[in-house]
Amino acid sequence: MKTPREPDLELRGKLIRSLGSLREMLPGSFVERKRACGRPTCHCADGKRLHSQYQISVLMDGKPKALTIPAELAEKVREKIEMRRRFDAAAATICGVNLKRFLKEKKKGGRPV
Ligand SMILES: [Zn+2]
Repeated sequence: MKTPREPDLELRGKLIRSLGSLREMLPGSFVERKRACGRPTCHCADGKRLHSQYQISVLMDGKPKALTIPAELAEKVREKIEMRRRFDAAAATICGVNLKRFLKEKKKGGRPV
């Protein structure tokens, strides 16, 4: 027998299944900073063509840290931090669906959830 279509449950299932692809997520925020290296002959000495420096700004053991990211890893790290944002968004949506369902059940005053 086919159960009636429940869009909320379909959405929840879809989100849950998508979480596996976010397993490489990283915490914190991605920071790109511009800086001069200080060498007088470098192109950055004009103050305009500065070097990019990449960092993860993150709490470790409750303390804010800025971790330097090697330039060649910057794009990967940026994506992994973006995964965390998508993970949180999915979790919030799933919680919203579940809360709605919980309230519905509660109203019916019946079965435990
Ligand atoms: Zn320089």
